[in-house]
Amino acid sequence: MSERAPFLPYGRQDVDEDDVRAVCAVLRSKPLTQGEAVIAFEQALATRVGARFAVAVCNGTAALHTAYHAAGLRPGRTCLTTPITFAATANAALLLGADVEFADADAATALVDPEAVHRRAGPKTQVVAPVHMAGQPADLPALRAIADDVGAVVVEDACHALGAEYFDAATGEWVQVGSCRHSAMTVFSFHPVKHVAMGEGGAITTNDPDLRDRLLRFREHGITRDPAAFEERDPGPWHREMHELGMNYRVSDIHCALGLSQLRRLDAFVDRRRAIAARYDAAFADHPGVSPLVQRPGAHSSWHLYVVGVDPERRRAVIEGLHARGIGAQVHYLPVHLHPWYRKHRGFQPGAFPGAERYYESAVTLPLFPAMADEDVERVIVAVGELTA
Ligand SMILES: *Cc1c(COP(=O)(O)O)cnc(C)c1O
Repeated sequence: MSERAPFLPYGRQDVDEDDVRAVCAVLRSKPLTQGEAVIAFEQALATRVGARFAVAVCNGTAALHTAYHAAGLRPGRTCLTTPITFAATANAALLLGADVEFADADAATALVDPEAVHRRAGPKTQVVAPVHMAGQPADLPALRAIADDVGAVVVEDACHALGAEYFDAATGEWVQVGSCRHSAMTVFSFHPVKHVAMGEGGAITTNDPDLRDRLLRFREHGITRDPAAFEERDPGPWHREMHELGMNYRVSDIHCALGLSQLRRLDAFVDRRRAIAARYDAAFADHPGVSPLVQRPGAHSSWHLYVVGVDPERRRAVIEGLHARGIGAQVHYLPVHLHPWYRKHRGFQPGAFPGAERYYESAVTLPLFPAMADEDVERVIVAVGELTA
């Protein structure tokens, strides 16, 4: 019987014994929720990305919903985002009763095109939500300037981009994604395929104490425990007040213990991802049939995904060929406006966002995760070479 290499997913967590011990310590002796591990995780994340505050929630979608609510997104107002993202970036706005509009993406980078954002932004735009697709930062200084012009708030969907940096020409500095230098808030996910795994988890970072209060309130039913905010005069010590509608979007100490332990290895994770991406880049550099996503000058990706473009006519055969070889190629993403729900309920048609659609038709995501062995990377390179020759 021939030896079969194990199936290689496009992404997977790397959990070590320290992570297991950290989770077990919570299970043995600590509160399982609303305890110190949540606060420790929030502080460590804020410190790592250079923001004043982080608010942890139960997943990245909840983080988007919470951030958009804090940003004042509501019926009659619009969230302007990119079609090349996970559907949650747009869905979270609709769940608040707001509208969603898309600005086209650049087919070469899969990032939202600031020119397109400029054309679409208007008086109803409340939130501009760029997505740092595959881990590469979008052009935040440009997007911030456009948002400022129409009085909108920038909320970064950085679910792909923990550990990424970009160059700020105004100050000549490299800036961490999540520091909110050019945004009001930044959203992260800690799903196991992302840079840091919590099972399920998410967070929002911000430098604004008022936004932090709004985030915390929405996370907990819109209920406040702050006596200074109470409407009731001289209430008893049991008193709590609900001032707005909210959710239970808390995340447990069990999850945060894992997140905190994983965060300690973030630099190593990102370094390994960058090394694998560099190996893919070198292998595909003189391969005319394979075009990696173009990297913008001044963007230093943290490489959540390694996406290549191939001939659209052959893409399906390439992906099926990779699957037949045990390689879990994927596609990120079907442009949001082409999902049946968006076509049916929002009236979008193919052709609406040609850059995004052109990107999608050729895109293939190859496996990339820190625990991938060098031999696995070579196996992918050989297979892609054969299937695109
Ligand atoms: C993963 C992801 C989300 C949602 O995060 P969950 O934790 O899965 O809810 C949102 N946006 C993007 C771009 C993502 O990759």
